[in-house]
Amino acid sequence: MSCPICGKDTAPDFRPFCSKRCADVDLAKWLGGSYAIPSDDPEDAERALDEIAREAQKPH
Ligand SMILES: [Zn+2]
Repeated sequence: MSCPICGKDTAPDFRPFCSKRCADVDLAKWLGGSYAIPSDDPEDAERALDEIAREAQKPH
């Protein structure tokens, strides 16, 4: 099985992801709702995660 975020091998500690970062990306995707996170480019995923983090810090 490979990480659904970046496609790398899954790490037992973070199944079904390869790392905490990818788990965070997936979580942020759920929280962010409308964000589309590319599944094949870790740098894009990181950038998207940064955007989501910025968005989450906006006052409501
Ligand atoms: Zn990954």
